[in-house]
Amino acid sequence: MIEIPVNRPFLNGNESRYVNEAINSGWISSDGPFVSEFENKFASKMGRKFGVAVSNGTVALELAVRAMNLGPGDEVIMPSFTIISCASSVILSGAKPIFVDCTSDTWNMDVEKIESLINQRTKAIMVVHIYGLPTEMGKVIAIAKKYNLMIIEDAAEAHGQEYFGKPCGSFGNISTFSFYANKHVTTGEGGMVLTDDLEVAQRLRSLRNLCFDEKQRFLHKNLSSNYRMTNLQAALGIAQLENLDDTIVRKRKLGQTYRDLLNFNQRIQLPVDCREGYLNHYWVFGIVIKNLNFYEMESLKNQLAQKGVGFRPFFWPLHIQPALENLGLISIQNLPNCEYISNFGIYLPSGVGTTESEIKHSSTTLLEILNEF
Ligand SMILES: *Cc1c(COP(=O)(O)O)cnc(C)c1O
Repeated sequence: MIEIPVNRPFLNGNESRYVNEAINSGWISSDGPFVSEFENKFASKMGRKFGVAVSNGTVALELAVRAMNLGPGDEVIMPSFTIISCASSVILSGAKPIFVDCTSDTWNMDVEKIESLINQRTKAIMVVHIYGLPTEMGKVIAIAKKYNLMIIEDAAEAHGQEYFGKPCGSFGNISTFSFYANKHVTTGEGGMVLTDDLEVAQRLRSLRNLCFDEKQRFLHKNLSSNYRMTNLQAALGIAQLENLDDTIVRKRKLGQTYRDLLNFNQRIQLPVDCREGYLNHYWVFGIVIKNLNFYEMESLKNQLAQKGVGFRPFFWPLHIQPALENLGLISIQNLPNCEYISNFGIYLPSGVGTTESEIKHSSTTLLEILNEF
């Protein structure tokens, strides 16, 4: 049986060369020169002044929230359809997440629903570009201006993505990225926080490194932890960044190949390919299955797994997470779009290194299974 992994990274550029350089130089911890080189190159590619590399994308969000001085009594509006890291970073700071439904076609936060949730406690909007498609930033920026709110931008699924010609990651007062193995730029594990504000960047650097005092090293006026990225990871990141433009071309092609193969099945809702001002970069190729019941959907997933097609279910909405309910953080609400797609959405093998024949095999297998219903 052919086994197709849901992700296959693509490491065929200068990755081994730079990592070997790091090893040969002896700089293997976070003190090596590749870290600042990666920070500068990545920040500049995303149109930002400062980059602070950290150990993963979840921690990048935690530090971003802390650097924005959010805390008890504050509310942060965010999509329900995203990864738990968005909510956990806000909750760890003492602030409260307020969840918004997604639209049924883009799966991004429905920006029309933001304004009615704003009150005196609202301090920030956290936007997440889901699955490689940008959020409607024009409207978010207008709302943030009108109510004097900060924007925290999680661009972990949108490296190299643009919205009306501006890079994703350049919109937030503070923006974050992940470099996990399935992201468009990977360092294995890793993340980065971007900002144009020098003071915020300095705060981030201190928070990343145990808040060592600048004058008296082992004196600490604040508490933090160790969130540093290693020189080895940064070496990998620089090589990956050199390939980012090619990666986007590959991912667009992956999306087009899937679309051509799956376009004609009435049961499959395809992702949005383009809108005025942006194109989908297909960080992953997600689909929503229509007109199946829960049992049929379970059966479809089991059969895909049995036939060796790596897939993942969609995010489970944050407003129905038991961990958040247990903390008393959910006011009962019904967000039907994200509840629907979380039950009937999956994404297919979508790595930068996923081959055309793997895409074809995955699509054919899916269509065969669907034909049985
Ligand atoms: C991957 C991801 C993260 C978390 O990144 P890790 O490096 O895995 O901690 C955060 N936000 C989004 C939207 C992601 O896709």
